[in-house]
Amino acid sequence: NEGLGSWPARRARKTPHRTALLHDDSAVSYAGLHDRSTRLAHALRAHGVRRGDRIGYLGPNHPAFLEALFAAGLLGAVFVPLNTRLAAPEIAYQLTDSGTRVLLHAPSHATLAADACRIAGGDDENGGPGRIAVGGAAYEELLATAAAEPIDEPVAPDDTAIIMYTSGTTGRPKGAMLTHGNLTWNAVNVLIDHDLIAGEIALVSAPLFHIAGLNMLTLPVLLKGGTCLLVGAFDPAGTLDLIERHRVTFMFGVPAMFDRIARHPLWSNADLTSLRILTCGGSPVPTPLIATYQRRGLTFLQGYGMTEAAPGALFLDAEHAVTKAGSAGVPHFFSDVRVVRPDLTPVDVGEPGEVLVRGPHVMPGYWGLPEESAAAFADGWFRTGDAARVDADGYVTIVDRLKDVIISGGENIYPAEVENALLAHPDIVECAVIGVPDDKWGEVGRAVVVLREGAAPDPDGVLASLAGRLAKFKIPKSVVAVAELPRTASGKLLKARVRSQYGAPP
Ligand code: AMP
Ligand code: MG
Repeated sequence: NEGLGSWPARRARKTPHRTALLHDDSAVSYAGLHDRSTRLAHALRAHGVRRGDRIGYLGPNHPAFLEALFAAGLLGAVFVPLNTRLAAPEIAYQLTDSGTRVLLHAPSHATLAADACRIAGGDDENGGPGRIAVGGAAYEELLATAAAEPIDEPVAPDDTAIIMYTSGTTGRPKGAMLTHGNLTWNAVNVLIDHDLIAGEIALVSAPLFHIAGLNMLTLPVLLKGGTCLLVGAFDPAGTLDLIERHRVTFMFGVPAMFDRIARHPLWSNADLTSLRILTCGGSPVPTPLIATYQRRGLTFLQGYGMTEAAPGALFLDAEHAVTKAGSAGVPHFFSDVRVVRPDLTPVDVGEPGEVLVRGPHVMPGYWGLPEESAAAFADGWFRTGDAARVDADGYVTIVDRLKDVIISGGENIYPAEVENALLAHPDIVECAVIGVPDDKWGEVGRAVVVLREGAAPDPDGVLASLAGRLAKFKIPKSVVAVAELPRTASGKLLKARVRSQYGAPP
């Protein structure tokens, strides 16, 4: 077995007694992880799971998630992680689309799992997905009574390991197929570029059902033999407490998560001295947030990537975090990135273009979607749909999603740049800049903002604060204050939804 499924056995051979997973003060050693995933694989076989079959997983971060991932890998089956924040029909769509045979679910998600399976046709004789509860007492019983002999199923690097649905900030979710090789190469890139050590204690509160929580953090740490502290639900106070108690060394999060931590009253007195690696990714990191952490002596490493790339493409290391602040860095060691014009020729320094990614970590395609898969690549390069600029040293700055770019009087406005400027305003906690139709300019910017509690809306003051800091055409023409912005489970702004809710012409 040359896939992920073999990792626990390989680790158990080297470091059986080291702690692989921690959760609510219970610990699983590498030998334990090997034993438990092998037993689960036998139990799944008894349920009829064979190589190539899809196994769904619905639940918050918990050791059972990884046991199931490795069990699937032992059988050559394909693991389909599901987002716990989706509604039953959305989960049913992914179950049906992937042809999932068995859905493993946390006891806390039994009702959602049952509803989704019923919608997916699971309770009639056509045999949709069956269900197995994992992580509770019945699960321990299942493991205890399962066989424990080693499983020797041939699995190759090009075999599909997981199908992960992209977060769907646009259109219908597509299942990115990631092979064992894709996941492994990304994990190797993370090991190299983060300088991970065996003694790493990683706090995993980013959801494992998203690629970043899984493969910017958890899998690389397990590959190296470190410890992953799995947290089911993120909360800032709990996070600060866990950092102190477990002497956490490594965290990964989206900017919104780091922002909530820094705004918590416990932040100023928390002992953060154990933290060595803080990686921020998934969306642009606002400059004020970088400064807040810098004042505590903490430097963000920054990553840019996407589900289809398993996920890391660009990475900004500690050495350049300050001198190249705002940039997403240079390609990971085994990755190549190009920024191109619409005709695919490389841009000049400073000229915006589309980001293309190529490397052994990039998916072969989307599950069951040959046309979309073909359209996602140009000359073997994955088309990200993101706009970026490259500086003279080759550092890439993501400027925005291509389709979020606002064109006002022929000038391109990159909303992220305007959002950064707005976040410097003391009353603005979150914001999104969208384009709204305008008779004169075609489109003009509108700022949709979440104000600090107790702040009085002052649209003119907000706009005045941008004068002189941004070119006039970039300054939004209107400000709308809202209670909250629509986001995905991973904290990513749903721009399309902001546009449909707040984008009506004045
Ligand atoms: P997903 O489709 O959920 O895998 O998210 C991938 C998308 O998130 C990318 O195509 C980018 O638009 C965005 N993204 C990820 N990392 C960054 C970053 N560091 N800066 C800006 N945008 C990012
Ligand atoms: Mg995407």
